Amino acid sequence: MPRSKYLIVGASHAGLEAAAAIRLHDATGTLTMLTRDSHLPYSPTILPYVVSGRSRPDNIFLRDETYFAKHRVALVRGAAVVAVDTQAASVRTDTGADWQYERLLLATGAAPDVPPVAGLDEVPFHVLRTLDDAVRLRDAIGRAESAVVLGAGLVGMHAAENLTKSGVGVSVIEKEPHALSGYFSAAASSIIEQTFAANGVRMRMGRTLAAVARQGRGCTVTLDDGSTLAADLLLICTGVKPALAHLDGSGVATDRGILVDDRMRTNVANLWAAGDVAQGPGFWGGRLVSGILPSAVQQGGVAGADMAEDRGAKPFSGAVPLNTYSFFDRHAISVGMSTANHGNPDLEVDEIVDEDRATYRRIVLKEGRLVGIATVNEFVDPGIMWQLILRRIDLAPLKAAFLARPRETGRLLMSRIWR
Ligand SMILES: Cc1cc2nc3c(=O)[nH]c(=O)nc-3n(C[C@H](O)[C@H](O)[C@H](O)COP(=O)(O)OP(=O)(O)OC[C@H]3O[C@@H](n4cnc5c(N)ncnc54)[C@H](O)[C@@H]3O)c2cc1C
Repeated sequence: MPRSKYLIVGASHAGLEAAAAIRLHDATGTLTMLTRDSHLPYSPTILPYVVSGRSRPDNIFLRDETYFAKHRVALVRGAAVVAVDTQAASVRTDTGADWQYERLLLATGAAPDVPPVAGLDEVPFHVLRTLDDAVRLRDAIGRAESAVVLGAGLVGMHAAENLTKSGVGVSVIEKEPHALSGYFSAAASSIIEQTFAANGVRMRMGRTLAAVARQGRGCTVTLDDGSTLAADLLLICTGVKPALAHLDGSGVATDRGILVDDRMRTNVANLWAAGDVAQGPGFWGGRLVSGILPSAVQQGGVAGADMAEDRGAKPFSGAVPLNTYSFFDRHAISVGMSTANHGNPDLEVDEIVDEDRATYRRIVLKEGRLVGIATVNEFVDPGIMWQLILRRIDLAPLKAAFLARPRETGRLLMSRIWR
């Protein structure tokens, strides 16, 4: 049975960062990465650009073969883990191979969460999580005249824009009253929705899909209000969730994801989890599946350092959401508790909507500290805002200036902290 001191399942942001952290502390211990993907590692965040044709599928890899050889990391592609035996300290892949480990990291990310819709089994549809998904979708766009995108989250909105720019007539169906509701308040989303509508996208907010039926090479979708739409292409972007079936019977504690502490340790000895598959400490308490790239990177680094017994490594600081979003040459950002509501007595919410200029800015403070910010068509540095939150910087002395000019004041504060 092949054996590896460090075995990492998943070769994306979390897994790669863990491998790098292990190698910083242990240059020689055997290190193997298993990935079900047949490609070299890539970032899912690049996939919208593969769909649009801006990025070539053969030019998006995060690491090349030389990297793995140089750092003595064995990358095994096309190996999907289907079972984990924590008693025997081994995992089994879909090729029937068993791998023995001393220390195991599960960094398997998340998979599309497709809702149960009557008729969906009979209809061809697309999702967008892997490079193969992106290439299939790109090719299908070339043959489509009409499309329905189910879900107005970041992935669905990116896809709707790409489809529109390719000349496809697009309808976006979203069950929440407004688009991007996980990141923006109604007023901010309204600006984004108007931009989409002005570019010809039909935004059907507050609606769900009741049924779909095959029609020719595409389908007919029926909404919950009884209206119907015909589409050559159906794309489902209703969020993701960690795939955990291979952990059945393993004793690994799970909830929405694999439960981990601030060192990314699970409840089972010698077993860590990081990235989109992990449910770890939130910055403001609780345990959550973060689902964003910066958390996957940070968690992977923490897990790798802990696996290699790097005692100097810092624990995970807790996930703070950070999303930047570009749409039709415009932009929006959302950091931290950006949708926290006005009714919360612990929070101070300052919101400015300029409908004429189509700009939006919302700052959320708690006890004089920034806890969330969202802007549309108004630039602030998302990384600086993220740092102000993570470092719990006291804004009280500069509060008025920060509310009036968050970008400049944020830069000033960070230049003082970094000095
Ligand atoms: C289209 C799109 C756009 C995005 N845009 C943004 C963005 O703008 N900003 C942002 O912060 N985040 C964004 N994200 C989310 C971001 O990509 C993820 O948070 C990040 O990739 C998580 O990294 P990860 O390593 O945990 O998992 P993933 O990147 O999902 O990688 C999981 C790895 O595990 C492998 N794997 C899965 N199951 C198995 C198995 N059973 N056996 C073996 N290998 C397995 C996969 O092949 C892959 O290598 C986007 C995601 C998508 C899909």
